[in-house]
Amino acid sequence: MKRGRVLPVLVGGVFCLAVMSLYRMLELMQGAEPDRGGGSPVGQVEEDLSRLQLKIDRLERLLVDNNRLVARLRDSLLVRESPEQRGGANVSSNSAHNRAAAPLGCWKAEEMKDGADGVQLLDVYDLLPFDNPDGGAWKQGFQISYRGDEWAEQPLELFLVPHSHNDPGWLKTFDGYYQDQTRHILDNMLVKLGEDSRRKMIWAEISYFSQWWNDIDDQKRALVRRLVGAGQLELVTGGWVMADEANSHYFAMLDQLMEGHQWLQTHLGVKPSSGWAIDPFGHSPSMTYLLKGAGLSNMLIQRVHYSVKKHFAQQRTLEFLWRQSWDSSSRSDITCHMMPFYSYDVPHTCGPNPAVCCQFDFHRLPGGRVFCPWRIPPQPITEQNIKERALLLLDQYRQKSRLFRSSVLLVPLGDDFRFVESGEWDAQFSNYQKLFDYFDQHPELHIKVR
Ligand SMILES: [Zn+2]
Repeated sequence: MKRGRVLPVLVGGVFCLAVMSLYRMLELMQGAEPDRGGGSPVGQVEEDLSRLQLKIDRLERLLVDNNRLVARLRDSLLVRESPEQRGGANVSSNSAHNRAAAPLGCWKAEEMKDGADGVQLLDVYDLLPFDNPDGGAWKQGFQISYRGDEWAEQPLELFLVPHSHNDPGWLKTFDGYYQDQTRHILDNMLVKLGEDSRRKMIWAEISYFSQWWNDIDDQKRALVRRLVGAGQLELVTGGWVMADEANSHYFAMLDQLMEGHQWLQTHLGVKPSSGWAIDPFGHSPSMTYLLKGAGLSNMLIQRVHYSVKKHFAQQRTLEFLWRQSWDSSSRSDITCHMMPFYSYDVPHTCGPNPAVCCQFDFHRLPGGRVFCPWRIPPQPITEQNIKERALLLLDQYRQKSRLFRSSVLLVPLGDDFRFVESGEWDAQFSNYQKLFDYFDQHPELHIKVR
């Protein structure tokens, strides 16, 4: 029997023994009393009642004595078990994350935080005001300013990352999307990336990729291998799907990750190194842990509450090492980039002002099916407008880069089921190439773009 159970049994035994002894004693006393009542029944009842009252009074006193005894026994046992914890169970704390009261996992995170420039997210929630201020162009953020000479020593190095987010089932079925959009996206990718070695693309959903792989011939498969080998096409995360992280069991998250990674290993002989999670509604440390375990060294997240994004942007901590809260070492660390703005579409990825960024989504050129809801349409880049257009875009890039500590800036370029038609590829790649050539020809702008 454990020590903790011995105490209640011991106390209960003492209590029962005391009650039984008292009761027996009272019975003996009652038996020894002479019958003084005579013959009156009313007098007999009153006498019985007063005797009963006496018994109750004595039992109550006995109960008080027993309670004191139990308290003394408990205190003495606690002192013997762990002197430093005496009274700990009733210690109150102003902080929800107090070290003395916290369980082991949180305590380790506290220790880690004390030792480095760490952020314990649970503490961040205590700092965030419950408000919803209008941040201007960046509705959920704040005004970003810069002097202009910040990049004189170290130029802004920018990576534009074309992507197409393909949900394996959303408004259409998996097969519906595959037939209508996905297979055309991947077919065109082979052609358009093949045309210019400077063009890049990332792909996340292996369920679609494997379906398409089954449909293409050996010649196209060889081209895929060449693009992957040249770094023009990168498979990111490598999951069968872009997994939900809020509701799914970790086993399902792991299972789909293994399925995708095994497929990539078997057919392309590659292992993803970067995670890409732009559409899961909330992000989980379990997924982060699995990605690290699967050999990834970097990851990106997007759907985080705007207050948290804004706080991280103000602290310039949108890029960080994500460590598990129970890990006091750096074993579980993985580099994480948190996207700062509202969405992963083009209006919300070039900089803080969606009305400006939307003008650089060349899929929305006038005459197309999609347009800019801010009512300022994109313009095709020409000799005449290139300077004005390039400086307008550079201003957004510079503002966005002020939210990060490094001089390297990631700018995704894509949306749901993008790059379906050949013309869309041409519109994005040719117009961006003109802008990038302009940046290259103007070193005084201190920007290097890929
Ligand atoms: Zn999605």
